[in-house]
Amino acid sequence: MTEVWGSIGQLVSDVQSGKKSAQELVELSLSRIKEFNPEYDAIISILEEPARKRAVEIDEKLKKGEKAGRLAGVPFIAKDNFLVFGAETTAASNMLKGFVAPYQSTAIERLESEGAICVAKANLDAFAHGGSTENSDFFITKNPHDKTRVAGGSSGGSAASVALSLAPFALGTDTGGSIRQPASYCGVVGYKPTYGLVSRSGVVAMASSTDCIGVFARRSEDVALVLDIMSGEDTLDSTTIARDSSAYTDLENTVKGKKVGVISEYFGEGLDAQVKASVDSIIEKLKLAGAEIQEVSIPSIDLALAIYYVVVPAELSSNLARHDGQRYNYSAPDFKTLQESYEQSRSQGFGAEAKRRIMMGTHVLSSGYYDAYYKKAQTVRTKLINEFKAAFERVDFLVGPVAPTTAFKIGANEDPVAMYLQDILTVAANLVGIPAVSIPCGFDSNSLPIGFQVMAAQKDDRALLGFSKGVEELLI
Ligand code: GLN
Repeated sequence: MTEVWGSIGQLVSDVQSGKKSAQELVELSLSRIKEFNPEYDAIISILEEPARKRAVEIDEKLKKGEKAGRLAGVPFIAKDNFLVFGAETTAASNMLKGFVAPYQSTAIERLESEGAICVAKANLDAFAHGGSTENSDFFITKNPHDKTRVAGGSSGGSAASVALSLAPFALGTDTGGSIRQPASYCGVVGYKPTYGLVSRSGVVAMASSTDCIGVFARRSEDVALVLDIMSGEDTLDSTTIARDSSAYTDLENTVKGKKVGVISEYFGEGLDAQVKASVDSIIEKLKLAGAEIQEVSIPSIDLALAIYYVVVPAELSSNLARHDGQRYNYSAPDFKTLQESYEQSRSQGFGAEAKRRIMMGTHVLSSGYYDAYYKKAQTVRTKLINEFKAAFERVDFLVGPVAPTTAFKIGANEDPVAMYLQDILTVAANLVGIPAVSIPCGFDSNSLPIGFQVMAAQKDDRALLGFSKGVEELLI
């Protein structure tokens, strides 16, 4: 994929020195969106006028010698589940079509306060339920490497946007892999931080105990800069945590001497041979570069998918209860009673996948089944957390593949269980709340990208970003 933007750090210094203008960058982004979006369907809405207006403001500030921020003039794309001033937030669902929020998300607020400019909102699986964007109520995003294949999901539009160089970075959400899996399918870096490092305020909730906000970019250094700005405590989200005192922008990139654990359970049945070969080869490179490689077993990891598909539907069924036809957007036109209005609005507004998950969630929370499913899943989740903690006492990082295969053909995983199985290697990091990244590490024989997954202990984001940079350097 052609590199259009170069590093974000360089772009910002070019804008600040007057070599480039914010307006030029915004125009470049808008023209690329107009050129490529009709073919790939990565974008739901373009914020043309507000973006142009902000670019003018930033250029004027700089002309007057005022500071315009650490991301001055840098265009970016947000997944359409982030509330952004002056734009619709649909979460790719008919339920929210036409919804304009009265406030915006903390993540967007922080980026804008440093001069970044949101130019467009990207496609996703409706309400972030899925792994391919095929569940979007609007259209399917095509993979930039092969238009007959999915871009991954649920943040498929954001991943494809960065792969197509529509903007230098994009925001996504990762509840069970929705940043890492599309990043791996599209060949870009996708970073899911420690749970709580970035505020969830102003982002359409999926599952509150695993939702994380993260970044897609071309290189770890760019991810680190964006994360450095977005992360940290926020009074609007009580689950946020304090960020590291050292900046993410001054990273240590050594792999030498790092203890790297290869998750043995991640190399079992169902893993595509070419994905395995590519991941094995980067592990070999790490070894040659002086990393200490060892096999690590996390026995309960095989149960992670089962835990996830109990806990997450339970949480999302309660989060989606607010879409009742009375608030937010869609409201069924014909009803006689309030009860009927709820029923009609929800049955017409939600798509099949949201309904399936609401039913699963309310079932596992219902009396008589709560102990058998929800409580048991939470108990095993604690066991999984403890096993990860024990592993991180022995190693600095855990590694493996991101997804069992490369990007699949559109329509190939129509069976919901087949689709859920795509999440088998990503959900554990969400259940445990640890940071994890997908780094492009090669291509299969169809020229489809493969991702290498690295996880670190909770709050070790800075170390993970540095290591990720080191891995990238080994691949050049
Ligand atoms: N594919 C996973 C799911 O369908 C992950 C979704 C996400 O991270 N938003 O639940």
